Amino acid sequence: QIKLKHYVLGKLEESDFQISSNEITLELNDNNDVLVKNLYLSCDPYMRHRMRGETNSYIPPYQEGQVLDGYGVSKVVLSNNSSFKVGDCVSSWTRWEEYSVIPRGQRLKVIDPALAPLSYHAGALGMAGFTAYVGFFEVLKPKKGETLFVSAASGAVGQLVGQLARDAGLYVVGSAGSQEKIDLLTNKLGYNAAFNYKEEPDLVAAVAKYCPQGVDKYFENVGGKTLDAVLDNMNNFGRVAVCGLISQYDQGGQDGVYNLKRIINKRVTLQGFLQSDYLHLEPKFMDHMSKLIKADKLVYFEDFAEGLDNAPNAFCRMMIGSKIGKQVITVAKD
Ligand code: NDP
Repeated sequence: QIKLKHYVLGKLEESDFQISSNEITLELNDNNDVLVKNLYLSCDPYMRHRMRGETNSYIPPYQEGQVLDGYGVSKVVLSNNSSFKVGDCVSSWTRWEEYSVIPRGQRLKVIDPALAPLSYHAGALGMAGFTAYVGFFEVLKPKKGETLFVSAASGAVGQLVGQLARDAGLYVVGSAGSQEKIDLLTNKLGYNAAFNYKEEPDLVAAVAKYCPQGVDKYFENVGGKTLDAVLDNMNNFGRVAVCGLISQYDQGGQDGVYNLKRIINKRVTLQGFLQSDYLHLEPKFMDHMSKLIKADKLVYFEDFAEGLDNAPNAFCRMMIGSKIGKQVITVAKD
């Protein structure tokens, strides 16, 4: 099991987690419980909020000493629940441990192992993919020919936003934190242009250079200086989908954003969103993504950390960008 040792307000370190063992009884008490073996666990930035102990968020904090919970892919090992049978692969809300009892099978969904690699259900076909889908289609309301800018463009969400946008006929530009990621964006993920924000001395000029027609739509994942730079380059009536502000998560507060005046003179709409407000669209999302996968129009880069022992390291690497694509923890392959 992986536990959070204590709340962390500054930079998160591996030593803030605890790896522990606990024997479980292979029996189910409640009539509807399900015992699952966890296969893949998803590392998600929102979990960082929960490690701060703050109660003013949309999701409660972890308790100190608690086994982490989050999205994953699991296999049913024992079931007292008629909706799940032994051997079913499920996308799950589970715990960071090898086996978990899921009370009443809550938030388990049977998945089709033939559709895509099982791990995709912790990313492209899971919460990250759904976030990309609703943020792009529902919040940004894209139109063919527009310029879209995406930050953290090669990450779990960003790499999908880029591909959805390319498929919808937009001009897609992204930023990411290394040359390897920039090559991935322009060579494999269909981005028209991309730059390494760490190497650009003037971010406003960089966005202007790579988006020669200005920015119509911005899929915001990082906040801070990048948000400022894109706001300065927005076109009239542009839209910003504020998905995340990862540059601010370790520090809790919010760096000043100086170009807010652009929202007025360019009549920009800035909309924060939570994927969980759109759950009614999940069937449409799965249909859309399945079609792209079957037509070979979607690729998904994943970075696997092997074994629960490596989960703390994987989570910290994800936060600082030392991984490529979606960060997944492989607990077991089958
Ligand atoms: P990623 O896979 O993109 O991982 C996070 C990446 O952010 C890092 O790998 C790093 O990549 C980049 N990053 C970290 N620090 C900074 C910084 N200071 N400045 C710029 N970039 C930084 O994560 P996800 O795709 O899972 O999540 C992306 C965003 O979407 C997050 O902000 C997350 O909180 C948000 N989110 C929101 C949801 C919602 O419902 N609103 C749901 C899911 C996610 P790099 O090398 O490029 O710097």
